[in-house]
Amino acid sequence: MKHLLSAQDLTRDQAIQILDIAEEMAATQAREVKKLPTLRGQTVVNLFFEDSTRTRISFETAAKRLSADVINFSPKGSSVSKGESLKDTVLTLGAMHTDAIVVRHYASGAPYNIAHAGWTDACVINAGDGTHQHPTQSLLDAMTMRRHLMGPTPVGQDLNGLSIMIVGDVLHSRVARSGVDLFTTLGAKVTLVAPATLLPIGVDTWPCGVYYDLDQALREAPPDALMMLRVQKERMSAAGGGFFPSPQEYTRDYGLDEARLAALQRHAIVLHPGPMNRGLEITSGAADGARSVIVEQVANGVAVRMAVLYLTMTGAKGKVAA
Ligand code: ASP
Repeated sequence: MKHLLSAQDLTRDQAIQILDIAEEMAATQAREVKKLPTLRGQTVVNLFFEDSTRTRISFETAAKRLSADVINFSPKGSSVSKGESLKDTVLTLGAMHTDAIVVRHYASGAPYNIAHAGWTDACVINAGDGTHQHPTQSLLDAMTMRRHLMGPTPVGQDLNGLSIMIVGDVLHSRVARSGVDLFTTLGAKVTLVAPATLLPIGVDTWPCGVYYDLDQALREAPPDALMMLRVQKERMSAAGGGFFPSPQEYTRDYGLDEARLAALQRHAIVLHPGPMNRGLEITSGAADGARSVIVEQVANGVAVRMAVLYLTMTGAKGKVAA
């Protein structure tokens, strides 16, 4: 695997391989000395054209734990603010012998251009492009679900038989798109719940069920894993707003509150990719409650990104060298 651009590109076996290697990586992170020598002498550039807390820090941590050198690039303060193109930025990184580019970009498809336009030989990993894909997010979500819901020894397993519900701003969510792709590849049944204004055109062709009423969905398709999405206010205001009547109405119809939490199956877990709008799509009680695995998602993100950097940058097929 040279690049990771989309969850859609992963076969079931490849996805399981990444999750299994992430488990090995996670085990190394419980040690006193967390660093492995695997990528010593290699350089990873974090090329982030959009804001990020978890994903950027997590890729940086993952690369450093594998002993790579890490350069963090943000357009503010670089020649991008003088109008330099993506192509010239990538050619510049290539001239400095970058081995991997982790890219987040506001334009859907930018990582494909970087990987396939002949601008660089580096491995390209998509860290979120527009409203399109965020493959490492869906892998860390799958790792978290597998650990909680697929028995005590998740290694080698897929998500067969799980019911996964994704609620909220699907329209703007690369997390939802990657999740639908990966979770269905891994054998889960996915249900989306959103107001019609926050569902993309063509959602009826996606391999998942769709509900407009959250309470009905929770009754009729009770989830093992309930993923709440962030209301992406920045993309909504860029589009002129008007996606729902008021925040209060959104919270009443689509928010996860204590009553909906209490209606979940006993074993069900609650996920959120972050950053959360507490009080809008999720109450603090739900975000911090016993069913919440939101902090674990962040921890698993480091292990998954170590696995992805390892597999792409070493071209490895097998086990991680200790
Ligand atoms: N952090 C995730 C992303 O970058 C989810 C979000 O921003 O709502 O897509």
